[in-house]
Amino acid sequence: MPNQKISKEKSIKRTKTFVEVAICAVLLAAGGFLIKGAMDRSKPVGRSDYEASEVEVDIPVPEDTTDPNMLLYTSVNVPTKDKFYGDLILVNNDHQYYHSGEEDLVSINELNDEQGISFFSAVDYDYTILRQAYQPMVDLITDYYNKYFDDTIIIYGSYRTTEFQKSLYDDDLAQTGNEESTRVAKAGFSEHETGLAIDLSETVDYDYTGEGDQAWINQNCYKYGFIERYQEDKTELTYIQPEPWHFRYVGIPHAAYITRSGICLEEYIDLLRTTYPYEGDHLSFADDDGNNYEVYFVASDDGADTTSVPVPSGLKYDISGNNVDGFIVTVYKDVPETAEPTYPAQETTEAEETTEAEPDEVAG
Ligand SMILES: [Zn+2]
Repeated sequence: MPNQKISKEKSIKRTKTFVEVAICAVLLAAGGFLIKGAMDRSKPVGRSDYEASEVEVDIPVPEDTTDPNMLLYTSVNVPTKDKFYGDLILVNNDHQYYHSGEEDLVSINELNDEQGISFFSAVDYDYTILRQAYQPMVDLITDYYNKYFDDTIIIYGSYRTTEFQKSLYDDDLAQTGNEESTRVAKAGFSEHETGLAIDLSETVDYDYTGEGDQAWINQNCYKYGFIERYQEDKTELTYIQPEPWHFRYVGIPHAAYITRSGICLEEYIDLLRTTYPYEGDHLSFADDDGNNYEVYFVASDDGADTTSVPVPSGLKYDISGNNVDGFIVTVYKDVPETAEPTYPAQETTEAEETTEAEPDEVAG
């Protein structure tokens, strides 16, 4: 895998340059003044709802100071409860979704009508999806249609309220008697409740196979920010049977890395929190179009209302909770801070709103 290779080369380079770094300690101290100066001038980007810290924060500078591409960082204060929001939240039997009813949803068929899209629709006019996932979904299915002229795809599943998920689970339980279903998640534990997941089908049954022409969708969805979420060799980690029809939006950089690496979302979230914390090496890679990204993890400060999250100075970035124990920062290394985001982040609640009690950890 190219990414692993890059990572390995980087660590070898680091070992070699360790002595140089030690010798350059004095230079570093001088550099600190320059970095501090840059921090003072910088302002937060990407998420206007996070205000830059006014208190001077002691942000450790990554060790690899010989890297000419090294970024400068400032910090933003993020409401700690926002670790349960964002495109990268992990929702499965172990990690509950907490924000049912607060989503920024759009009607799939309503927006399709506005755009004059007639080659696919949701089975019902009420079907909604999280705003930022709508256009990537349209782009994916449009490119598929333009390639194969197949207009049989329908959206058979999208956003579900927790209430609706409960009725699906209860129906499945009545049919199978299995409380630990691998077909239907318990209420509060389905990705569909986030509005970031869609089920494709041809009829009102789960009859999308991902084979034949449809294989193009499964093989290329990552270029649009989606992953095939439940794959055959990952059922022990996802607790869900293989579902070639179920796609989860995570954003282009993460979908590219997850798909190329052959890992599932559980493994990716774990990889970031264990291997790529802010204080250590950051995950660096490019997508298929050559856009460069840096990704790192910041643990949430669970004892405080806000968590100080280091962010790059002068570059576009996104912050997402992981729904486990912190935040994932995605740096768009080629995009200056003034650029408009490709898919705007969802508005989040203001920091001054009353802080909800943090939900208890949910046992498996
Ligand atoms: Zn699904």
